[in-house]
Amino acid sequence: MSETKAVGDWPRPVSPPIVSPESKPFWEACKTGKLLYKHCGACGEPHYYPRTHCPFCYAAETEWREASGRGVIYAFTVVRRAPTGPYAIAYVELEEGPRMVTNIVRCDFDALRIGQAVRLVFQPCAGDTDAVAPMFEPA
Ligand SMILES: [Zn+2]
Repeated sequence: MSETKAVGDWPRPVSPPIVSPESKPFWEACKTGKLLYKHCGACGEPHYYPRTHCPFCYAAETEWREASGRGVIYAFTVVRRAPTGPYAIAYVELEEGPRMVTNIVRCDFDALRIGQAVRLVFQPCAGDTDAVAPMFEPA
C-alpha cells in the first residue's frame, strides 16, 4: 500500500488513474495541463469521457480535441462527513458541451451554485506517481 501525500490545499488523496491504451493520450495530456475530450467526425457530437466509439452514433471516427478549461457547475453535492474533511463532487458542463464528473476545489463550499462559472485546475494524485487529475475551481 502506497503512502498518501498531502496535496496542497486539496488534502483528500485521489487515486492515480488506471491507464489503458484508450485513455493514455488523455492522461498524458493532463500532465501537460491539457484537458482532452472526443469529437465525433460522423455526427459532430462532442463527448466525455473519451471513447474510441461515439456514444451517440457508434461511429469510430472520433478525434481528440482540447477543452478550453472553462465551464459551469451543472450539479454538485458537498460531502461534509468524510475522514479527510468536506469536499465537493460536481458535474461540470464544459464550454464545448460535454459534462464531466469532477471535484470543485479551492472554494467556499457554502457559496457553490448551479450555473457558477468554474475553471480547470489539475491536482496531483496520491502516491508515488506523476499523474494529475482534472478538477475545477471557481472562475
Ligand atoms: Zn457520433
